[in-house]
Amino acid sequence: MKIILKNITKSFGEKMVITPTSLTIESGSFTTLLGPSGCGKTTLLRMIAGLETPDAGEIWLDDQCVFSAEKKINVPPEKRNLGFVFQDFALWPHMTVFENVAFGLRARKDTKDLEERVMEALRAVRLEEFAKRYPHQLSGGQQQRVAFARSIVIRSSCILFDEPLSALDALLREEMRHELKELVSRLGVTAVFVTHDQTEAMSMSDRIAVMNRGRLEQVGTPEEVYNHPETKFVADFIGESNIIEGYVEHMTESSIEVTMESGKAVIPETGYRMEEMVYLCIRPENLKISTEPKEGFRFRGQVREHIFIGSTNKTMIEMPNGQMLKSVTPAEDELVPVGTTVNVYWNPGKAVVMRTKEEQIYNVIEQSVEIEGMRNDQIF
Ligand code: ATP
Repeated sequence: MKIILKNITKSFGEKMVITPTSLTIESGSFTTLLGPSGCGKTTLLRMIAGLETPDAGEIWLDDQCVFSAEKKINVPPEKRNLGFVFQDFALWPHMTVFENVAFGLRARKDTKDLEERVMEALRAVRLEEFAKRYPHQLSGGQQQRVAFARSIVIRSSCILFDEPLSALDALLREEMRHELKELVSRLGVTAVFVTHDQTEAMSMSDRIAVMNRGRLEQVGTPEEVYNHPETKFVADFIGESNIIEGYVEHMTESSIEVTMESGKAVIPETGYRMEEMVYLCIRPENLKISTEPKEGFRFRGQVREHIFIGSTNKTMIEMPNGQMLKSVTPAEDELVPVGTTVNVYWNPGKAVVMRTKEEQIYNVIEQSVEIEGMRNDQIF
């Protein structure tokens, strides 16, 4: 099932919790809505399910419009035929595993081949032996699998997951990630998965939609959002990063020279304006230090601390303006002693240049293009 959101908005009272949001989720893909608590992930998921009504925009499931504010269409949740898995499993304690899974079918009065369908769903989650048990006789992971079985028994081609693994302990959570991902791809269904856990999002998703304060910051594959974050928020939220503010001082046909408080660097990027404010994002594993000068860089700092984190070491380097940069190296690499003044450099292709928010807005006004999310002042 393909899902299309067109300019969806949602306010609770005066508070706009989803600014105009458009998103296409391809059929059969595993898409994660990722963002900090309160950014609107669950609200967006509930609007797809029909459990929350948008104020504006349209929602399409394949070629059916299930919501349109303008055309006054609002298909109720039970007619959207979507599976839903909640964070707290939401199992009925007084019903057996079989009855819990059968519940959705009975509620829909869709009881043809009920036993066969329930057992097929239980087989898919490897729980057919547990059909007669009650939820309290199951482990956390098994209860979660019952919740999955309940979402797949209706044979929906799309399942919506609202933080389904967050109630499980760390070890089990990791195991269930693989299991769930494998199950979803075996069934060939579209999955929309909500989480605030970036590791979970990175390890499970085909695409990640990063949300912040009611708007989509970036949508891309895990590699794209990690290696090419488009905004400072994405760079900060996904993995660790060094973010250094600067401005474009010189340009050539193929590169820009960025001047920062702590030094200068030439970056193979184009499309910027002279004196434009930018952020450079360098992942700690790409930031190197050396006692030898490095070509193209005038960046010097002092090694302040080494932090041993198992297979790697994290070295903290203080720049002249007081900013701390992080460099991560394999644990077996030799460490530069604390207190040494070092040259800081990176492979220029590994630095991502990002526009500051002010520059993004400036560019938009320049081009007289309407952008989504301009109503940030109205959020929260
Ligand atoms: P979390 O990970 O903590 O669940 P989230 O990103 O899923 O967060 P939402 O639950 O979608 O965020 O909430 C977005 C904002 O909307 C929050 O500020 C929340 O307080 C508010 N909100 C959600 N539901 C309601 C409601 N029914 N009435 C009023 N405000 C609401």
